[in-house]
Amino acid sequence: MRPLPELTPENTAFWTGGERGELTIAFCGDCRKAVHPPQLLCPACQSQAVAPRAVAGTGTVYSFTVNHQPWLPDMKVPFAIAVVDLDDAPGVRVTAPVLTDDPDTVRIGQAMTIAFEASGDVWLPLWKPAEQAA
Ligand SMILES: [Zn+2]
Repeated sequence: MRPLPELTPENTAFWTGGERGELTIAFCGDCRKAVHPPQLLCPACQSQAVAPRAVAGTGTVYSFTVNHQPWLPDMKVPFAIAVVDLDDAPGVRVTAPVLTDDPDTVRIGQAMTIAFEASGDVWLPLWKPAEQAA
C-alpha cells in the first residue's frame, strides 16, 4: 500500500514506463545530463529540450533502510527500501522498496534490477537483487 503520485506532463513517462517494463529517465538533449525528478526545463543549462528515454534499469544500492513498524493495519513488515544509483544515468538515484524474502540481506553496493508493480494508472518501481533477477 503506497501513496500514488499525481501524473503531470513531465513525470508521466517515469510513472508509466513500467507498463513496457522500462525505467524511463528524462535527459537534456543539449547538455546530456539526466534531469531527475523529471521537469520540463534542464536545471543545468535551462534547455527545454528535455525528453524521457528508457535506461537499463540496473544500479547499485547507495543506501537503504529496513522498516519494522506496521504503519498501517495491513502493512507487512519487515521490508527494505533502497536508494539505488542508476548505472547509466549519472547522479540519478531511485528510491523504491526491495523485493526480497529477507530484507536483512540488503547491502550497500549490492547490484539491483528494476521491476514494477501496477497500481491504478501508474507502475511503481521496485528493486530486485540482481542475482535473483534472471
Ligand atoms: Zn541541459
